[in-house]
Amino acid sequence: MCVNCFSRRRFAQFALGLAATGMTGAAPARATIRTLPVVMIDPGHGGHDPGAIAPDGVFEKTITLATGLALRESLFATRRYHVEMTRTRDVFVPLEQRVADAVAAKADLFLSLHCDHLPEANLRGASIFTLSNTASDKLAASIAEDENNAGAASAPMAGVSPQVAGILASLETRATKLGSATFSLDLEKSFMGMIPMLPDPRRSANFAVLRDPSTPSNLLEMGCLTNPLDEARLRNPKQRALLARRITLAINMYFTHFVDGQMAG
Ligand SMILES: [Zn+2]
Repeated sequence: MCVNCFSRRRFAQFALGLAATGMTGAAPARATIRTLPVVMIDPGHGGHDPGAIAPDGVFEKTITLATGLALRESLFATRRYHVEMTRTRDVFVPLEQRVADAVAAKADLFLSLHCDHLPEANLRGASIFTLSNTASDKLAASIAEDENNAGAASAPMAGVSPQVAGILASLETRATKLGSATFSLDLEKSFMGMIPMLPDPRRSANFAVLRDPSTPSNLLEMGCLTNPLDEARLRNPKQRALLARRITLAINMYFTHFVDGQMAG
């Protein structure tokens, strides 16, 4: 395994190679870049935006930040990643700024952390979202509506013709979708039997914070603040550390899929 060989561009080469060859295993060009993959952690809400509020007054923004910091520590410990965060304290960061931060950091992977508040208190467990124009179900649509408060437009590409920029953007989007789908599967596998999950935990919806076409991204609803068991779990530092370890394992799995630009098998 050689995660140091990974780069976002090479992920795109890999994905496009699969698309072009029908998974015949054609090797993409060898890369010369050797840098750590950049993981961007996005603790949802903050500042004047508390996010969901549990019946006893606990704020979603507090839990997302605490979990984000635990995840950063867990990822640092692997020495395999360069880790960035969209916020490290209780401040408001607009959704479009979070996307812009990921683009500026050339993030290879973006994970937004949130907690649900669902109409039925007996519903509990994590759910994992990827971007889609059409929500996978009514619940996914209403969660996305709750989490969105601003659209996010991508900056136009500089230095290439509009035609070439359009082709590149379309190819990059395909690679990004493949990456996002791969990561959501890795999260589900890593959580299985360890972290409670909603039935059918992998869903899709139109989340503003997932709209960067160049960065594979997931939005993780870590649990439901409206469920007493989930709330107790998310308030417990040991349980948050467990969650951080399982996310780290999923991130390790995600980057292990790619060895020198090819699927590890
Ligand atoms: Zn949220």
